[in-house]
Amino acid sequence: MRRYSAFAVAREAARFHSGWERAWGNPEPKRHYEVIVIGGGGHGLATAYYLAKNHGITNVAVLEKGWLGGGNTGRNTTIIRSNYLQDASASIYELSRGLYEDLSQQLNFNIMFSPRGVMMLCQTEHEFRAMQRTAHANRLAGIKTEMVTPHKVKEICPILNIDGPRYPVLGGLWQPRGGTARHDAVAWGYARAASALGVDIIQKCEVTAIDRYGPGGRVSGVQTSKGAITCDKLCIVVAGHSGVLAEMAGFRLPIESMPLQALVSEPIKPCMDIVVMANTVHGYMSQSDKGEMVIGGGTDGYNAYTQRGSFQHIEETVRALCETFPIISRLKMLRQWGGIVDMTGDRSPIIGKTPVEGIFINCGWGTGGFKAIPGSGWCTAATVAKGTPDEVAGPFGIDRFRAGRMIDESVAAAVAH
Ligand SMILES: Cc1cc2nc3c(=O)[nH]c(=O)nc-3n(C[C@H](O)[C@H](O)[C@H](O)COP(=O)(O)OP(=O)(O)OC[C@H]3O[C@@H](n4cnc5c(N)ncnc54)[C@H](O)[C@@H]3O)c2cc1C
Repeated sequence: MRRYSAFAVAREAARFHSGWERAWGNPEPKRHYEVIVIGGGGHGLATAYYLAKNHGITNVAVLEKGWLGGGNTGRNTTIIRSNYLQDASASIYELSRGLYEDLSQQLNFNIMFSPRGVMMLCQTEHEFRAMQRTAHANRLAGIKTEMVTPHKVKEICPILNIDGPRYPVLGGLWQPRGGTARHDAVAWGYARAASALGVDIIQKCEVTAIDRYGPGGRVSGVQTSKGAITCDKLCIVVAGHSGVLAEMAGFRLPIESMPLQALVSEPIKPCMDIVVMANTVHGYMSQSDKGEMVIGGGTDGYNAYTQRGSFQHIEETVRALCETFPIISRLKMLRQWGGIVDMTGDRSPIIGKTPVEGIFINCGWGTGGFKAIPGSGWCTAATVAKGTPDEVAGPFGIDRFRAGRMIDESVAAAVAH
């Protein structure tokens, strides 16, 4: 792989950009791989990259039924933070946030990580107490966050209305090194770096069945729209379609698939240089580099597989944010879309072995897995390579639902993303 650099840009400018190579290969699938990763989203691609980079396992294929990042990875609002309450969550999300810091350099691909700061507003007494508890837990976990006063909130984000009649701002949980990154670039950066290490990235290749050695036996391969492929190990990383793939393999998951939607406004001049999450009214907002206000809300209240937006959702989310951000009340909304998120009961992910020997799974990131891509890929690769979860992934095994060892972030963090 030829490195991207200022020198390379100058060289290509001088020869009319005729010398750029493909960012990643486009191979036909081989008949056999040591590891097959199903799903070319951020988590699948990061898993493949760290399998090759950290564990020297390069006979790997990533099978993607559509295009890279076409699932939730390319549809999310890109909030990155690690201010979770539970120790297990703090470990994996902070590992991930730390990896984001120099991911552009590691991958030699500009993922536009922007640690502009994330403010989580406290708009009820209950929320204020919950955030204080989280701030204390973060301090114990070594994660840099702080509680700030309403005046400080206003100073950091002047367009906020802190005196709203229904939901005044009582304070905020501020993580100064949280922020955003360019979502497609994260997928593309991992794909390019993995491909350079020998991983086969195969798009438009849908897995339609999972083969096992007889009933109850270990995995032997997959049937795909490009034919049968055998493998020693299989890793399922398909977010909202996890239940479908698990059924193909012959086991069940405690996952529900629901649509989550987002929308962007027309572009306006820079007016907000942080991310704000208003969890009581269920909305959050940041401004993209193009000037659009990027807005997201909560999940729809029903199960579905449609990656589309709906009108009632626009109304709900925008209405909720108008009191806190009066500035948006006359903005035109440009685009709206949806993704299918994979929700567990405790709102924490599942990483580890499955009941079928040789099959591993990474899912359950729900509404908040973009921020976790580097850390999740790191831990999943270690789990697949060694056959048992590493220290960080350990608590996220599927057996926790049987043992009642939940990692409850739904009530604890009072926030989705
Ligand atoms: C609107 C929205 C806003 C969000 N906001 C945030 C946020 O601000 N911050 C945050 O941290 N997270 C956010 N998330 C969540 C985040 O996007 C996801 O948790 C994360 O992207 C999941 O990545 P993934 O790689 O697991 O899944 P995906 O990116 O969905 O990739 C899974 C891939 O598997 C492929 N696949 C499925 N079935 C098959 C098959 N049979 N064969 C082959 N391939 C298959 C799909 O095509 C897909 O490309 C948001 C999500 C949405 C939808």
